[in-house]
Amino acid sequence: MAEVKIINNLFSYNDRFKMRDCKQINMIVLHSTETPTLELAREYGKQEIYEESSTGNAAHYYINLDGKIYRYVEDNRIAFHVVGYNEQSIGIEIVNKGRYPHWFYNNNQFPAEEFKKEQIIALLNLLKNLKARFPGISRLERHSVLDQRTIPAEDNSDVLIRRRIDPGPQFPWEYVQNFWNHLA
Ligand SMILES: [Zn+2]
Repeated sequence: MAEVKIINNLFSYNDRFKMRDCKQINMIVLHSTETPTLELAREYGKQEIYEESSTGNAAHYYINLDGKIYRYVEDNRIAFHVVGYNEQSIGIEIVNKGRYPHWFYNNNQFPAEEFKKEQIIALLNLLKNLKARFPGISRLERHSVLDQRTIPAEDNSDVLIRRRIDPGPQFPWEYVQNFWNHLA
């Protein structure tokens, strides 16, 4: 099995996410935090916004700017990170500024921050590890592809912009996808 160091730092509401049989996991969804730091992403994640379950928006894994990998939600829990695909997927968030702090401004839809080499290396290691642990995973997807909803821009309500563009145009998708396609 691929060795990868994962630091456990579960959200306090981890136990309130519904449990699942890990055999139903067939997809990995890639995200970026659209925050400058992991600490800020965690702060947003802590805000309990779903009344029914008292949980927040969270993915399972977070990759910091230095390439360190954290587990925020257990694999056998259904986290809330992508509309419509949570039950079957594992979410990976990569720290990247994205459109922060004006996510929904029409003139701010082309984030400039590049992903760090350490982050991409960590991501490939994590993908390899997940594929080894959950052989049923066949799909690798980006949040931007799975959620194409639009909203009026905050600075110009005549213009519709994407709610989710992550992991975004700076993410080396073809490189990562090529690696994934060659995993046994
Ligand atoms: Zn996302």
